[in-house]
Amino acid sequence: MASEKVNRPVNVRRPEVMAQVAEDLSRFQSPLVDCIRQQGNELELPGVRLFLAESFGFCDGVKRAIEIAYAACRLFKDKRIWLIGEIIHNPEVNARLDALGLQHLPWRMDAPAYETLTPEDVVIMPAFGVPVPLRQLLEAKGVVLVDSTCGNVIKVWQRVRAYAAAGVTSIIHGKARHEESQATASQSLGKDGKGTFLVVFNTSDARLVADYINGRGDRAAFMQHFAGCHSEDFDPEVHLKAIGLANQTTMLKSETAEIQSLLRDAVVERDGNDENFHMFDTICGATQDRQNALFALLEKPLDAMFIIGGYNSSNTTHLAHIAARKVPTFFVSSAECLLRPQRIRCYDLELKKEVVRPLPAWFKHPERELQIGVTAGASCPANVIEDVICRIAELCGCGEI
Ligand code: SF4
Repeated sequence: MASEKVNRPVNVRRPEVMAQVAEDLSRFQSPLVDCIRQQGNELELPGVRLFLAESFGFCDGVKRAIEIAYAACRLFKDKRIWLIGEIIHNPEVNARLDALGLQHLPWRMDAPAYETLTPEDVVIMPAFGVPVPLRQLLEAKGVVLVDSTCGNVIKVWQRVRAYAAAGVTSIIHGKARHEESQATASQSLGKDGKGTFLVVFNTSDARLVADYINGRGDRAAFMQHFAGCHSEDFDPEVHLKAIGLANQTTMLKSETAEIQSLLRDAVVERDGNDENFHMFDTICGATQDRQNALFALLEKPLDAMFIIGGYNSSNTTHLAHIAARKVPTFFVSSAECLLRPQRIRCYDLELKKEVVRPLPAWFKHPERELQIGVTAGASCPANVIEDVICRIAELCGCGEI
């Protein structure tokens, strides 16, 4: 193979490999899921009516990232191929990529594995992007860079870089330890590295910020609460004067709206106007669509809701939180979670770990037709959704679909 130009991402979606890549990705499809979609997202089985959300599963950004990873594997068969962390947060997809021989680089750039990289290595950046210093390290190593960062994430970066250029502190609604928020935080330092950011996780965090803006905060307590969630020299006395909001793309839209309103009101109370408040809704359309579709599904009189996806997937976890407020919810990563007999392995949102629970008795011996809702996060492939649906049918005594 001709030598690649290093230090900038290469295009791996080349005609010579795309037929093979299409075949690779076909294993993530499901004729059953397509069929349910075509018949109005409902499946009628003996004693069970199953409802699939209007919008669920793979988003375009995830599809593209997986395609890029497979294309890199096909194109650079003779090279070591590395992936930083996970391409997306789904165990089925990641296991299949690992089987192609992908090696993993940890998220921490001081890890020894980075020392071993040479210009002969190929490194794939995941859909969430990577922090600026990590990218600079890879560029300095001269590796062949493959970039699968989602365009929606890049839009957030453009926004926070604009805030930095204008001397505005980025308030990032996100999870401080999530890869995407870390990458966005690094971008919010701007070209000269002098920008500032603060990551708020929820409305309770935002209230603390609002209180501080309105002179009701204690500096030491504030800094302690937000330890590890702000730029290096962040000083709330200085850096909350002008603020601009951005989101991790997969956050809960209703919570983001509440945070925006809390912080805008705080700035208006302090300044008498909102000139020092900036906002830009950067939750991506795919996340919004899946949340909206779930809200619509939850209007039905469901007996239970199954949320399918990786437990470390941010958008899937939010779907589980939304459903759990309204109906008994099982957050499962695959069909293997529905165990025999009558037990289910699922993620407990309170305990933040996987637990094994007995299935409710009405599941096996319903007194009337059961109404079960199903949806899946943006990183969950359709074949996994199909397997879960088949297993639900089996556990309900409907036999094979
Ligand atoms: S959920 Fe949104 S931001 Fe994340 S990969 Fe999909 S389209 Fe991109």
